[in-house]
Amino acid sequence: MAAQIELFSCLKDNFGVLIHDPASGATASVDAPEAAPVEAALAKTGWRLTDILVTHHHADHTQGIGELKARHKCRVVAPRNEAARIANVDQTAGEGDSVGVGALKAHVIDTPGHTAGHISYFFPADKLAFVGDTLFSIGCGRVIEGNPQMMWRSLVKLRELPDDTAFYCGHEYTAANIRFAKTIEPNNKALAARAVEVAKLTAAGKFTIPATIGAEKAANPFLRADNAELAQSLGLAGSPAWQVFAEIRKRKDRF
Ligand SMILES: [Zn+2]
Repeated sequence: MAAQIELFSCLKDNFGVLIHDPASGATASVDAPEAAPVEAALAKTGWRLTDILVTHHHADHTQGIGELKARHKCRVVAPRNEAARIANVDQTAGEGDSVGVGALKAHVIDTPGHTAGHISYFFPADKLAFVGDTLFSIGCGRVIEGNPQMMWRSLVKLRELPDDTAFYCGHEYTAANIRFAKTIEPNNKALAARAVEVAKLTAAGKFTIPATIGAEKAANPFLRADNAELAQSLGLAGSPAWQVFAEIRKRKDRF
């Protein structure tokens, strides 16, 4: 049976998201920015929390874990390479591991750069990816603990997922990301189309995600650092893609 998703907002601009297996009744919260909105989403759907799948150690992704675990006795799965920095972890996971949510199976992908041990969860049967703060729609996470080479490699791994994969990220930053992306690729038609779509969604009070990997590849400058025209427009023709990525990230940090 197909996975069901419940998406909601947490804190200032974080997303909360539940993935539910209707066959077994299992439900995972991807990260736990705060407990109350997760509880509200569980009450609304009638789902029972069985798992928390953590993408990285930052407080705005983990601070609800303790309260949720105490109440629901759920299993907490966290990135192997930074599990020591996360409380209440039951199981660790890293590249190549499989994590089940009832009958749903996620492949774990190491996506370091934003944090040193960041992981993403890909559910191939449903073509759903939960990418935390590695990839945002029309943006990417700040490179805080890793380096640009590492972050670029992580983004390429996510870019290699099937085009029709719907991805869920950690923050609603899309409109601001589009304002920046237009300074990098002012003539990108896919980006212009995404801008129109996002303006409509925002005006209607709707979330701008999920987006698909295929659409994102065409419009997100951070996934396009190996595009020759883009490199040339930044004065970096012939440079390695990670250096082009580093330049785009540097400009975004100052934007
Ligand atoms: Zn983060």
